[in-house]
Amino acid sequence: MQPIGEFNDLQEKQIELTKEYLKIYFQLETKILPIISNEIFPKNVRRISKNEQEQILAGYVLDSVLIKRKPKDAAVLMGITEKDLFPKPEWNYVFGLASYQNGVGVTSMYRFADGNLSESNFNQSLERLIKISSHEISHMFGISHCLNANCVMNGTNSLSETDVHFARACSLCQYKLNSSLKYDDKKRLLELKKFFEANSFNAELSRTEKDLNLIQ
Ligand SMILES: [Zn+2]
Ligand SMILES: [Zn+2]
Repeated sequence: MQPIGEFNDLQEKQIELTKEYLKIYFQLETKILPIISNEIFPKNVRRISKNEQEQILAGYVLDSVLIKRKPKDAAVLMGITEKDLFPKPEWNYVFGLASYQNGVGVTSMYRFADGNLSESNFNQSLERLIKISSHEISHMFGISHCLNANCVMNGTNSLSETDVHFARACSLCQYKLNSSLKYDDKKRLLELKKFFEANSFNAELSRTEKDLNLIQ
């Protein structure tokens, strides 16, 4: 993961928890690279939106920041910004952008907390961040959109859709993920259970417990 921006304590905590989650979800070593300041963005890739917050051109983050910083031994480099992103001049905003070919993606935390992360919206924002980052990284491992069941791999057009979708991958998508990454299902589910317990994701916790019961 590559954080880019000026993060406050809550935002840093959210990045740390997302790292923990992704490590469990994919059963792969997950690291946070040293934070890069917003100063890396030149004037011509910044703009002020209608709502008066600054936005960054998402493609620039992929092409000029992430690709060249991707460690040689990394499968994926996921950038995280606290600034809002836009994909092209005629668009209002975008939650994130990815290049599956290069194994890089960027996600903005900005809209997950309506631009103001606090104790009261922390969990909802974290839930959105772990769903969207695990969804995007799964694409990089070749898993496409899911029409099978309520699943983290369902395609989504809005945050309200993201909120309805489970963080859990359905059984078919779990099978696909495991056939490309070859992890211990039980170990993964036990670790997910612990994560959901510690962060009070109660619905996800009960789904993970059901999965565990099925394989035991
Ligand atoms: Zn997708
Ligand atoms: Zn699925």
